[in-house]
Amino acid sequence: MPFVSYHIHINGIVQGVGFRPFIYNLALDQNLKGWVRNSASGVDIEVSGSSDKIKKFISEIPISAPPLAQIDSILSEKIEDCSFSDFKIITSKDKATDFIPVSPDVATCSQCKAELFNPQDRRYRYPFINCTNCGPRFTIIRDIPYDRPKTTMSGFIMCADCQEEYENPLDRRFHAQPVACPVCGPQVWLELKPGEVAAEKEDAIQIARQVLAEGKILAIKGLGGFHLACDATNPTAVARLRGRKRRPAKPFALMAFDIAEVQNHVFTSEASEDLLKSPPAPIVLMPKKGSSNIAEEVAPGQSRLGFMLPYTPLHLLLLEPANDFPTALVMTSGNLSEEPIIRENQVAKDRLSRIADAYLLHDRPIHMRIDDSVFTIINETPYPIRRARGFAPNPIRVAQDLPQVLAVGPQMKNTFCLTREKYAFLSHYIGEMENWETYQDFQKAIQHYQSLFRIRPRAIGYDLHPDYLSTKYALEKIQPDHIPGYPIQHHHAHLAAGMIENGLKPETQVAGLIFDGTGYGLDGAIWGGEVLIGNCFDFKRAFHLKYVPLPGGDLAILKPARMALSTLWAYGFEWTEDLAPFKYMSDIEINALKNQLVKQINTPMTSSMGRLFDVVASLLDLRQAITYEAQAAIELEALADGNELGYYPWDISGDEINVKTTIKEILSDIAIKIDKSIISTRFHNTIAQVSLAVSERIRQGTGIDQIVLSGGVWQNQLLLEKTISLLEQNNFQALIHKQTPPNDGCVAFGQAMITSYRYLREVE
Ligand SMILES: [Zn+2]
Ligand SMILES: [Zn+2]
Ligand SMILES: [Zn+2]
Repeated sequence: MPFVSYHIHINGIVQGVGFRPFIYNLALDQNLKGWVRNSASGVDIEVSGSSDKIKKFISEIPISAPPLAQIDSILSEKIEDCSFSDFKIITSKDKATDFIPVSPDVATCSQCKAELFNPQDRRYRYPFINCTNCGPRFTIIRDIPYDRPKTTMSGFIMCADCQEEYENPLDRRFHAQPVACPVCGPQVWLELKPGEVAAEKEDAIQIARQVLAEGKILAIKGLGGFHLACDATNPTAVARLRGRKRRPAKPFALMAFDIAEVQNHVFTSEASEDLLKSPPAPIVLMPKKGSSNIAEEVAPGQSRLGFMLPYTPLHLLLLEPANDFPTALVMTSGNLSEEPIIRENQVAKDRLSRIADAYLLHDRPIHMRIDDSVFTIINETPYPIRRARGFAPNPIRVAQDLPQVLAVGPQMKNTFCLTREKYAFLSHYIGEMENWETYQDFQKAIQHYQSLFRIRPRAIGYDLHPDYLSTKYALEKIQPDHIPGYPIQHHHAHLAAGMIENGLKPETQVAGLIFDGTGYGLDGAIWGGEVLIGNCFDFKRAFHLKYVPLPGGDLAILKPARMALSTLWAYGFEWTEDLAPFKYMSDIEINALKNQLVKQINTPMTSSMGRLFDVVASLLDLRQAITYEAQAAIELEALADGNELGYYPWDISGDEINVKTTIKEILSDIAIKIDKSIISTRFHNTIAQVSLAVSERIRQGTGIDQIVLSGGVWQNQLLLEKTISLLEQNNFQALIHKQTPPNDGCVAFGQAMITSYRYLREVE
């Protein structure tokens, strides 16, 4: 059999996932000689051997690749014969324009977990144990290619034992860049008073556990930033954390040691268990059990709790079950109000000093801050609410090649998106772009992604809203660089995101039920109850919720009582003293509001579906003022009893969805003291029926039967499930989000799709 030589190039997520050792072993199995190396655009291999064995080698690659690898393509070509003496892993090659997807951070694998709790192992109870299958990735990578000197591990010199594992192709830690051990790697310590080390290593963890058991608040440096933790079963501790963090009601995330412990508090399913145990290990929202001893203060007024499992060795050690130790911890972002999550020791000690009683710190720097991801489960399928740790910077794959563009995203729940080839790099959750820190973070992250993925945008997409910080950033870039800019309507971006991530072609006409809080409309009004027909190029507004005034703009969002009275006024209802919102406003406030509405002083018009949910929550006397986004709607959903089938009437006249009769019937149900949970359910049913009715009208007129459901309102699980089932019963295809959140976390992706396709159409 003659010997031949091949060059093989593999694209995809193949760095930092144990790919080169895998190739090394595969080559040995087939008795091939040559080399493998990381390149900035994937992995390059050259092999020589018998052509049979090379064929077998190539066909084995996709079949037995390591679990975290994602292969996008394998290209092989015959080259001139090379004479290799053995098979080697050789130094990385970097070419300025190449790129490769970077792996997200990965939760501790089962082998590392077993070693962590094995007294015989040299990494027994070492809080930074990791291997090629798990550990930090995106958060520690400063640049590509992914090699230790380009990570925040560069300051730790490997000891002889670690070095040996790192260099041994048969070892699980072969070329694991963050490899470390108690002798040579990062360490933890505890400070009770900032600046004074109270304990180190194992002692630090044990004292940290005592601090938690005593009901105190611990700041913990984690993988993508700091958490604030306390005993979730201790109402006083949770209330104290709420008070100090000035966060009255927004739900806290929880962490428990294992699935069995999680099941003491919530109902799990196969899908939620799989997701909890998956490598990204996100927070999963699940229905709360009545028997749970989690303090009510953790998620007041909620029917679901958000749990995650320990995803780093430090978390595993901290949560290790013991008689006197809490069975679940609150693990909320270590930040002040809506600022970015803190990632540096000194900043944590400065900024969190009035919240934390102790600090569990370590010396492995975090290069990129990233929040925990949040999911819920819809019809036994994961449904993203916040896409961050474990998912970003994994690209979303699209069918067609894209030009290099930047989409800067919206104001709230900001993410941005960069594209090249068949990838859309949707950033991790950046946050609420209303403060300087978030805006700084946004700019830094754009730079980082552009340099990691070697992207130089040729066009920029941005929101129509003139005052958004992201829009301002885009406009500044467009001017000096003469890059074409594409202003994009907010709900059109939702529609595009929903259709492309469901695999539709950019030119396919679909309908979109874009039910949302706030988005700047083409007419300058605040849109949010929109039924659109369109594709990635254009859209038209088929129907919308009838406009009502939003008295005082943001004030009406914070106070559902104002929104309720304004809506009643707009629909021609009398304000009577028996109305629930009335009780929460003084005579002076009510007169001022009436004056404001009559004279149209600061009363922008809105078609927001989110606000309609607020109105109903207010009329039911459920919530008159909110302290976090969508609080009233979330509490309205939590109250609903899914078994009720009735719904209220409504009207469609022209392109307007008119809910006057809906409100009228709700008021009469309230007057005759129908149970609030029934009224809430009937209202949910009504919106599901409205969704079906507008879809039917669109199908009659256009034949379109693919319906995208996007917008923050579709985080309402009850509404979503009812609507999907109604649409499907009537032979519509309901397209819901799978990879990006239905809320504004998807907007940048949609903007990027519209920008790319419009740009392509114009330049070609
Ligand atoms: Zn591992
Ligand atoms: Zn070591
Ligand atoms: Zn939106």
